[in-house]
Amino acid sequence: MGHTLSERELISRIRRQANRTDQGLVKGIGDDCAVLRNAENRLSLITTDALVESVHFDISWHPPFLLGRKTASVNISDIAAMGGIPRFVLLAMAVPAVVESEWLTGFLDGFLSVLDEQGAVLIGGDTVRSTGPIVCSVTVLGEGDKDRILYRHSAQVGDLIWVSGTLGDAAAGLAMFSSIVRRPSALTEWPELCKAHLDPTAEVELGLLLAVSGLVHAMMDISDGLATDLAHICEESRVGAQVFAEQIPISDQLVAASRELAVLPLDWALRGGEDYHLLFTASSTVGERLEKLVYEKMGKAIYCVGRIVEGNGVALFNSGKSQEIAFGGFDHFARHG
Ligand SMILES: [Mg+2]
Repeated sequence: MGHTLSERELISRIRRQANRTDQGLVKGIGDDCAVLRNAENRLSLITTDALVESVHFDISWHPPFLLGRKTASVNISDIAAMGGIPRFVLLAMAVPAVVESEWLTGFLDGFLSVLDEQGAVLIGGDTVRSTGPIVCSVTVLGEGDKDRILYRHSAQVGDLIWVSGTLGDAAAGLAMFSSIVRRPSALTEWPELCKAHLDPTAEVELGLLLAVSGLVHAMMDISDGLATDLAHICEESRVGAQVFAEQIPISDQLVAASRELAVLPLDWALRGGEDYHLLFTASSTVGERLEKLVYEKMGKAIYCVGRIVEGNGVALFNSGKSQEIAFGGFDHFARHG
């Protein structure tokens, strides 16, 4: 059993490890507040989110290093979702006394590794004892060019709807770990699905590329599943959407896993959350330019899954039939009833 870090030891360790300088940072960890310098013609983006043990994560299968990475990535993803870049991060943690220092060290190493990869700096936070679950609350400050930030409210009728990766993989990975028969072999059997669940990537570089291109109208990240997230864009933009089932990108592993767990792939793809790919709309006239731009700059494919129409709601077209899926998912009972 490892020794328990005192709060002072923990803070000084974080302070040593997160010791990064930045042009915009006047004062980081070590005073009552962090002090930042604002740049001209740039807007600040601020987002905060909390992850709670047994609600958002399960430490019985989530290694601390990867959980630290995920905690950073899912928060940074909200900055990527608007075409911004993450700059500064605050981390507040409530940790029960039984959690060993090795766990905490692994978590922090993972958390800071993502910040380093994304060019962001940890500038403060708090650690408290919890008598209940582990709670990790993260605030990210980002920034973007004032004319290039992308919002949910600017989708236009006639736009095509795009996603930046295969959908449902994270939900399938979660299902693998949490299925009644525990699957110790899941990691080796389903590496892509497990990676999607344990260690998703915030698509900052792509978000910035799309924002700077000037070709995109509305954007967000996919955290709650396509059916729900697209409904947010529709609501904010006062439009409707049509999604075509056969155009939704689904990975080979997802198809194989869906057979194993007797789930319809489309269910995971539409309803499953936590993929953290980008969801965006753009005029149909720039579709090829967008595909080419993303492929040339990042070697990545993007996928057109539907189009923005007048009205409201999200309609799924599947084998010649349509059904409403806004804020929900594909209802496979509807086909029989
Ligand atoms: Mg979001």
